[in-house]
Amino acid sequence: MSRSEPSHPDCVFCKIVNGAIASSVVLETVDVVAILDIHPVNQGHVLLIPKSHHSDLTELPEALAAKVGAILPRLCRAVLSASGAEGFHLIVNNGECAGQTVSHGHWHIIPRRRGDAVHWPWPHVEYLGDELGRMKLAIEGALKSDAQA
Ligand code: 5GP
Ligand code: ZN
Repeated sequence: MSRSEPSHPDCVFCKIVNGAIASSVVLETVDVVAILDIHPVNQGHVLLIPKSHHSDLTELPEALAAKVGAILPRLCRAVLSASGAEGFHLIVNNGECAGQTVSHGHWHIIPRRRGDAVHWPWPHVEYLGDELGRMKLAIEGALKSDAQA
C-alpha cells in the first residue's frame, strides 16, 4: 500500500471516508472525519481520521496535521461530556509494533473512568550514563535534517 495518496482502494478508512463502508460519524469537515470505533476500548471511543490516505502519522502534511490538532479540544470535550468519562487517552498507534492495525493514520480518543478495565500505566525505563544527553542530541539532529521542520 502506498504511503500517501488521496484515497486507497484497499484501505478500510478510505472506504469509510468515501461511504463504501458505513460508520457512525460524529463530526465531519472538509479534511477529517470522526467516527465511533466499532470495537471500543470504552463506550464513546472515537477515531479522528484525516480524509486523505497517509499510512501513518509521520506521512501527514503539516497543514493537515494542524487541522487535526485544531479540532481535538472540541472533539475531546464532546467525548467527555457524552460518555460521562472523567478523562481520556489521546493515542496514535504508529507502526505495527505499536499496535497499528489500519494503515491510514488516525487518532484514538478513549474515554477513561476510575476503576475501568483499561490497563495503565505503561512501564518505564531509565537512562543510564550519557544516554539521555545523546538521545537529546540525536533527536535535535534529526529535526534539523528533516526537510519539513
Ligand atoms: P489501530 O489499531 O490501527 O490503532 O486502530 C484501528 C481501529 O479501527 C481499531 O480500534 C478498530 O476497532 C477500528 N476499526 C477497524 N475497522 C473498523 C470499521 O470498519 N469501522 C469502525 N468504526 N472502526 C473500525
Ligand atoms: Zn486510507
